[in-house]
Amino acid sequence: MKFSRLTDRIAGKGSAAWDIHFRALERRRRGDDVIVLSVGDPDFDTPAPITEAAIASLRAGDTHYAEIAGDAELRALIAERHRERTSQVVDAEQVVVLAGAQCGLFAVAQCLLEPGDEVIVPEPMYVTYEAVVGATGATIVNVPMRPEKHFHVDPADIAAAVTPRTRAILLNSPHNPTGAGLSPAELEAIADICRRHDLWLISDEVYGSLVFERPHASPCALPGMAERTVTIDSLSKSHAMTGWRVGWVVGPVPLARHIGNLALCMLYGCPAFVQVAAKTALDAELPELEAMRQAYRRRRDAACTHLARIDGLACHRPEGGMFLMVDVRGTGLSGEAFAEVLLDGFGVSVLAGEAFGPSAAGHVRLSLAVDEAELVRACARIAACAEHVQRQRAVAAVESR
Ligand code: PMP
Repeated sequence: MKFSRLTDRIAGKGSAAWDIHFRALERRRRGDDVIVLSVGDPDFDTPAPITEAAIASLRAGDTHYAEIAGDAELRALIAERHRERTSQVVDAEQVVVLAGAQCGLFAVAQCLLEPGDEVIVPEPMYVTYEAVVGATGATIVNVPMRPEKHFHVDPADIAAAVTPRTRAILLNSPHNPTGAGLSPAELEAIADICRRHDLWLISDEVYGSLVFERPHASPCALPGMAERTVTIDSLSKSHAMTGWRVGWVVGPVPLARHIGNLALCMLYGCPAFVQVAAKTALDAELPELEAMRQAYRRRRDAACTHLARIDGLACHRPEGGMFLMVDVRGTGLSGEAFAEVLLDGFGVSVLAGEAFGPSAAGHVRLSLAVDEAELVRACARIAACAEHVQRQRAVAAVESR
């Protein structure tokens, strides 16, 4: 039987990046002592008042079709929180509620891009971007984010990549996998490129509430950006709600209408009880949120302290998000090879930097979504692995003389 060409475009190497993660899960299922640092799923429970709100909603019979673009009150709350965080004033009609930021990215790409368009995306980049953009027939033009610059994009690299076909720039800050957070000055420089070339700016801010150094900066409130910026966010990371699948898109009214139409034919609205839970998430006093952020920060600090002592490794201290990049080039191995040895010989699963783009080659990504003691245990195993690799290398060097 024949399938559409779309099926090729969504089957990129992004999905292969997870092979090592699934192998680790399989080994753990079989009873092996494996520490899984290969996925960014918060280890915290969703704060109880949110779950209770969903249960009450279900018990009250909220099991029917919901408002397709999102419950009016929820959209108003999202608009309010968006304003508080970014200082961009928006109406509820500029908000569309979707099944997570992933669905938001897909919907935005479908409504902005078409075959022949180019989208500039700094790499390393989140693994699903390739298929999200590819599904539209547009192509990604990567610009490097270099480890020497702590994985911050150089706006001059973006400017140099603009062509008459460029339609949008896709940014993610704080960044997965690198933890880099763009500064207001960097965002202003990128915004300037968007204004000069009449480009969309798609801003994936799912880690916007997990910042450790300075307040999160958004591009949407910069002069001349409101009409060309789309902000994508969700409750997945900030509220430990990955499995609820709820996120949103905030953008100019005409775009929100188009995305609403897409939501109608693709999703027909997020479940009502999930939207009720989302309202509680955004409206209730939840001390758990700050506690989670502080826990990620402590884990980051603990991991960086331990990793800094290991010969052959260097750690990029993340400014935000829930991941940490470790430079393993000093061991002589690629990120892929190091990740393999680490899982097979030392029982820790991490993702190879290469899966996110060539600029992250020779790095591995660790998730901070395990408790501090487990993370420290993982660091000890990583140290043993680095030592083993370097000892083998020294032996091989002697033997080849
Ligand atoms: N963007 C980035 C950069 C992510 O890391 C993730 C999740 N890992 C998503 C989007 C999707 O998040 P959600 O669970 O809200 O769909």
